[in-house]
Amino acid sequence: MSAADHRLQQSDVVHIVGQGLAGSVLALRLIADGYRVHVHDDGHSTSSSMVAAGMWNPLSFVNLKVVARAPEMLDCMSRIYPEFERMLGISCYHPMPLVRIFPDAGSANSWEERAESPALRPYMDMEGSTAISDTFNVPHGVGHVRHAGWLDLPLLLDNAKSFIAKLGQYTEHSITREEIGQLLDQGDWVIQCTGWRLTGDDFGDDLPLRANKGQLYTLHIEGLDESFMSNFGRFTIPLGEGKFRVGSTYEHYPKDALPSSFAVEILADTSEALSKPFQVIDHKAGFRPTTSDRSPMLGFHPVHKRLGIFTGFGSRGVMAVPYCTQQLLNHWIEGAQLPFEIDWKRFEVRKKG
Ligand SMILES: Cc1cc2nc3c(=O)[nH]c(=O)nc-3n(C[C@H](O)[C@H](O)[C@H](O)COP(=O)(O)OP(=O)(O)OC[C@H]3O[C@@H](n4cnc5c(N)ncnc54)[C@H](O)[C@@H]3O)c2cc1C
Repeated sequence: MSAADHRLQQSDVVHIVGQGLAGSVLALRLIADGYRVHVHDDGHSTSSSMVAAGMWNPLSFVNLKVVARAPEMLDCMSRIYPEFERMLGISCYHPMPLVRIFPDAGSANSWEERAESPALRPYMDMEGSTAISDTFNVPHGVGHVRHAGWLDLPLLLDNAKSFIAKLGQYTEHSITREEIGQLLDQGDWVIQCTGWRLTGDDFGDDLPLRANKGQLYTLHIEGLDESFMSNFGRFTIPLGEGKFRVGSTYEHYPKDALPSSFAVEILADTSEALSKPFQVIDHKAGFRPTTSDRSPMLGFHPVHKRLGIFTGFGSRGVMAVPYCTQQLLNHWIEGAQLPFEIDWKRFEVRKKG
C-alpha cells in the first residue's frame, strides 16, 4: 500500500456505520463533496443523538471558561448546519441567546469579573432584553451567553436518512464485525460512528470509551417566553407551542438506558426555578459516548488502514462534530495531521508512556 492508498479518492466507497449526528454529518459532507458513501444503521437502537437536547454553549459554567477550540467549532458549525438545511430543505439550526440564572451572589460576582477578560468578552454579557423575571425566580440576577443555540437533532437525522435512502445509499441493519471485515477486504473504507458501542475490538478492548446516561423531559410551560434558552443548573430549550426540553442528568456506570425516577430531581429544580406551573409531556433517556479525557476520538487503524473511528463526542456533539469532521477530512484527503487531543492514538501513546 502506498501513502496515497491511505488517502480518500473520489472512486473509493466509504461505509459509515451509525447514523447518529456523527455519521450523518460525515455522510452528508462526503456526499456534498461528491464521494461515494453507504450508510448502515440499526434503526437508532442505541442512539444518543435521537434523545439529545441539542444545545450548544461555548462556555463551561463549571469554571467559567471558554470551551477548548470554541471559536473554530462555532465557525465550522455556523457553515455546515445551514448548508445541510439548504440541502435537505429543513430548518433545524436555531442560534438563540442563553440566559444564565445565577445560583448565588458569588456566581454573579465571578461572572461580572470574567466578562471583562478579552477571551470571554465575546461570549458573555450582563445586559440583555429577555423578560426572564416574569417566569423565573432570579434573586441573584442573570448573565447572557452569546453564540449559543440549539439544533433539532431528530429533524436533521430523519431528513438525512430519507435523503441518503432516496439515493439508494442507506441500509437499515445491525452490521457485524465479520461484515465490516468483508467490506475492508474488498478495499472499501469503513468508519465506525457507532457512539458508545463499537463493533469489534480493533481499537483495543481497553479503549476508554464509556456510556454516560442522560435523562431529560419535554414539559409544557404556560407563559414562558420562547425567545431564549435558560440555565439554572438545569436548562430549558423552547421547542414551540409552549413546549420546552428540560434536562438533564449525568449518570456514570449506568445499568440501562431507560427513563428512571432518578430524573425527578430535574422536575424539583425546575419547580424551584420557575414561577409558572408546568406539565410533563414526555421523559427520555440515552447514553452519551464519553471518553476518559472528555475529548472525541477519531482517526484510522494502524493495521486495518481503511478502518476508521469517529466517536467520543460526550455532551458536546453539536459543537464538536462539524469541527471534527473537518479535521478528519483534512487528514484523510490531504494528509494533514490530526490534532493530538482528538486523535484516538493519544490513548496508545499514554499506554506506552
Ligand atoms: C439526555 C442527553 C442529552 C444530551 N444533550 C446534548 C446537548 O444538549 N448538546 C449536545 O451537543 N449533546 C448532547 N448530548 C450528547 C449527544 O447526544 C452526543 O454527543 C451525540 O449525539 C453523539 O452522536 P454519535 O453519532 O456519536 O452517537 P449516536 O447518536 O449514539 O449514534 C450512533 C448510531 O450508531 C448505531 N449503531 C451502533 N452500532 C451499530 C451497528 N453495529 N450497526 C448499525 N448501527 C449501529 C446506533 O444505533 C446509533 O444510531 C446529549 C445526550 C443525552 C443522552
